Amino acid sequence: MLPPYHPEGFTDFSDPNNRKEFEEALEYVRSQLGQKYPLVIGGEEHWPGETFDSINPARPAEVVGTFAKGTAELADKAVEVAYEAYQKWQYTPAFERARYLLKAASEMRRRKHEFSAWMVFETGKSWLEADGDTAEAIDFMEYYARQIMRMDKAHEQLYDFYPTEQLDLQYIALGVGIVIPPWNFPCAIMTGMTTASIVSGNGVVLKPSSASPAIAYKLAELFWEQHIPAGVLNFLPGPGSSVGDRLVDHRLTRYIAFTGSKEVGLRIFERAAKVHPGQIWLKRTVLEMGGKDAILVDETSDLAQAAQDIVSSAFGYQGQKCSAGSRAIIVRDVYDEVSERVADLTKKLSTGETDKGPDVYMGPVIDKKAFDSIMEYIRIGREEHTLLAGGNAIETDTNGYFIEPTVFGDVPGDAKIAQEEIFGPVLAMIPAKDFEDGLNIVNSTEYGLTGAIFSKDRARLERARREFHVGNLYFNRKCTGSIVGVHPFGGFNMSGTDSKAGGPDYLLLFTQAKSIADRM
Ligand code: NAP
Repeated sequence: MLPPYHPEGFTDFSDPNNRKEFEEALEYVRSQLGQKYPLVIGGEEHWPGETFDSINPARPAEVVGTFAKGTAELADKAVEVAYEAYQKWQYTPAFERARYLLKAASEMRRRKHEFSAWMVFETGKSWLEADGDTAEAIDFMEYYARQIMRMDKAHEQLYDFYPTEQLDLQYIALGVGIVIPPWNFPCAIMTGMTTASIVSGNGVVLKPSSASPAIAYKLAELFWEQHIPAGVLNFLPGPGSSVGDRLVDHRLTRYIAFTGSKEVGLRIFERAAKVHPGQIWLKRTVLEMGGKDAILVDETSDLAQAAQDIVSSAFGYQGQKCSAGSRAIIVRDVYDEVSERVADLTKKLSTGETDKGPDVYMGPVIDKKAFDSIMEYIRIGREEHTLLAGGNAIETDTNGYFIEPTVFGDVPGDAKIAQEEIFGPVLAMIPAKDFEDGLNIVNSTEYGLTGAIFSKDRARLERARREFHVGNLYFNRKCTGSIVGVHPFGGFNMSGTDSKAGGPDYLLLFTQAKSIADRM
């Protein structure tokens, strides 16, 4: 009997012992930087020739790891090997599959700070953000292990009232799943999609983000070290633009689990719809994409709390969360006060190399491409709106990709920086005539991922419950920080297929139901 699921706690870095342990983990990972990593297909290592480096965005000259680059031929091989492995893995009892996740979760818990430290180096996460990311990865494994056990027993509760037939409903695996995660929750989202696939009985090809392959390799190692049958989990790093299409198009690919940008998500959606010669199923797609998330504040709300939560929603992990609150929509009567508070709090945020300590709030953005794109939005913001805080790149000796947390005021709801996902530390303060107008602005983008409303007016909260059109809605709190098993996560419209990761229905997306009647 397993104890009930409980989300993993976060580390208290005000405790000197925890700080010391985290510093030791950073030291250990520092000693591991610069190693070479192969592709792994069917348990065999491959070195096809070309490689690419994963770098530390705070110090781009620092190589976190060098990775073998997947080729089209190896992408084909990975799918074929995963298909072969799935033939047996699908019949492995659900409890047995779940035990691989439970063991990996306990191992990750034991080495929690080490996993977090990899993210500090590879993705510029602060200690707190990295700690939350690892905790979420552990939660996904603990939660999905229990969910597959629940689904495995589901048939026992069905159809007692129909005595002439013995009835059964089984949730069976789909086949080969291509798992394509982003770099921004490099441990949590990657672990969630990969282990949901494995525990449901599928064969997996994990194509990590090129910006965060090291942490993905570390997760895969947890399963290989347990001797999961060869070919169940294959590791195929390489640019999405080359191996990605090949994996998606393969006739043996049964589904694609993707989290990332709208552009790539739509490309996968279209390509997966094409039926290739020899393909005998319709490919399934689980696509979680971008956001332009809003926090709406009315005149009845606790303005100090609202300002605080606007700032943490906008700038946690440098604004590089799909759930980041990049629009603050404030009712006119309190707009000036909230804007002033938000600008003041923003100016106090510290930015720097996150391995230096837990008090560094913001690190670098992920790479040069992101840096250039964000700075272009800031240039547009400076031209069209009122700069209230930040607005500059931060120069360092290390040439890291640092940008000040930036706030623009008096931004119309239909402005470019209020409509497009910037995915960086840029917040648009948008005045609304009143609550009604604010709600219209909330729903005026093509996205619908997360959102929050601050109000003490119950009727308005109830109206928002119905009309604030997002997959994850929060009242009187920030719009980031969902917890597995507590806030099932996924968005509407161009934010994706609303898969509700970390929720009770998620594994249905990785399985198909088979109904069996046996006449008595
Ligand atoms: P991205 O550029 O779309 O990349 C995501 C993944 O897709 C990476 O592994 C990437 O590989 C791969 N890829 C690129 N081109 C591909 C292709 N043609 N075929 C198959 N795969 C391909 O997104 P990102 O920059 O990593 O992540 C940021 C985005 O993710 C934001 O838009 C954010 O809102 C979104 N996001 C959404 C959620 C959610 O739950 N809705 C959660 C987190 C993030 P390479 O790295 O090799 O290019």
